[in-house]
Amino acid sequence: MSQKSSEMKAQGIDVINMSVGEPDFNTPEHIKEAAKQAVDENYSRYSPVPGYPELRKAIVEKLKRENGLDYQMSEILVSNGAKQSVCNTVMALVNPGDEVIIPAPYWVSYPQMVLLAGGTPVYVEATFEQNFKMTPEQLEAAITPKTRMLILCSPSNPTGSVYNKEELRALANIILKHDDLFVLADEIYEHINYVGHHESIAQFPGMKERTIIVNGVSKAYAMTGWRIGYIAAPEWIVKGCNKLQGQYTSGPCSVSQKAAEFAYTQSQECVEEMRKAFERRRDLIVSLAREIPGLEVNVPEGAFYLFPKCSSFFGRSVCCVDNATNQTDDGNGEKRTINNSTDLAMYLLEVGHVATVGGDAFGDPNCFRMSYATSDENIREAMRRIAVALKSLK
Ligand code: PMP
Repeated sequence: MSQKSSEMKAQGIDVINMSVGEPDFNTPEHIKEAAKQAVDENYSRYSPVPGYPELRKAIVEKLKRENGLDYQMSEILVSNGAKQSVCNTVMALVNPGDEVIIPAPYWVSYPQMVLLAGGTPVYVEATFEQNFKMTPEQLEAAITPKTRMLILCSPSNPTGSVYNKEELRALANIILKHDDLFVLADEIYEHINYVGHHESIAQFPGMKERTIIVNGVSKAYAMTGWRIGYIAAPEWIVKGCNKLQGQYTSGPCSVSQKAAEFAYTQSQECVEEMRKAFERRRDLIVSLAREIPGLEVNVPEGAFYLFPKCSSFFGRSVCCVDNATNQTDDGNGEKRTINNSTDLAMYLLEVGHVATVGGDAFGDPNCFRMSYATSDENIREAMRRIAVALKSLK
């Protein structure tokens, strides 16, 4: 969708891109200054494979300060973005034939990484009606002797759902009943939370030994391009990931590590400012989406995505379009019918000029994802266009 949206933009079409998964803010000034200083101080050589000790220390302190969790520096491994942290962990822990439970909707990379490791993704459907959260009963039913890992993302991409403490405790109780079962807790959206304090599944007795926390600076500090993520995990898992990383990529970018160290050790005001902006936009997009007949909208509690249910439009066709393109056919002269969420996203892009992503990509074909990490003005205009385009489906 992003590629098609860029092609349309290159043709001079005014497309609003709500398909991307990154903050629209610039990296805060004080973090950029730290990076400039690191360049001047010649942080230009290889870093240790798991990251500079000062950064790992800053992460240990962050985990204590913000999450009440006790980690040693030897339990931290810094990587090229949280994406590499997830991939390292899956490659290190999952053997061919192992099953990995992935609640759907999921972040698109999880199943692919599991397949890359020779594992088998086992999907658990967490539907719109259950606020996209897996129940303990569903988890229990999905576990087999082959299950090696559960991948849990909270706050979630693509749904914005947040598991509260009691929900996490219930899942943890089931995990603890099974030996050799691990949880990869993807907490990259930790700071974009609208319901209070972030809760980690690692906090429950016995769970630290079973949990690999994945986090990083990408979303909280608007640093997606700097590529710094980390795991906090039992030392033997960190050692395994370190071996892999030592062969694949070595330690992550030296200058970015210094910037990340600053992000964690200096004032956290910028994080709260961005969170507040996202919350205001969340309220705006939810209220506008709720005015559109046919869309079902839940209230995301974190991250910066809306994942409305759009299945009421499936089977409908375009009757008339009141915008410039007047594109009522599918480009081949055939009447355009919306059969699934990918068709809907393509229709919204080609006719409404708003780029979104069909839910099929995330394992939920009834919904589609809109990122509201964009200006209020873009949100208002995008929702106006979507409302017009959907009204033309009969
Ligand atoms: N996990 C989730 C759920 C994400 O949405 C993303 C980024 N889209 C990542 C991990 C990867 O983050 P990073 O950019 O730090 O690699």
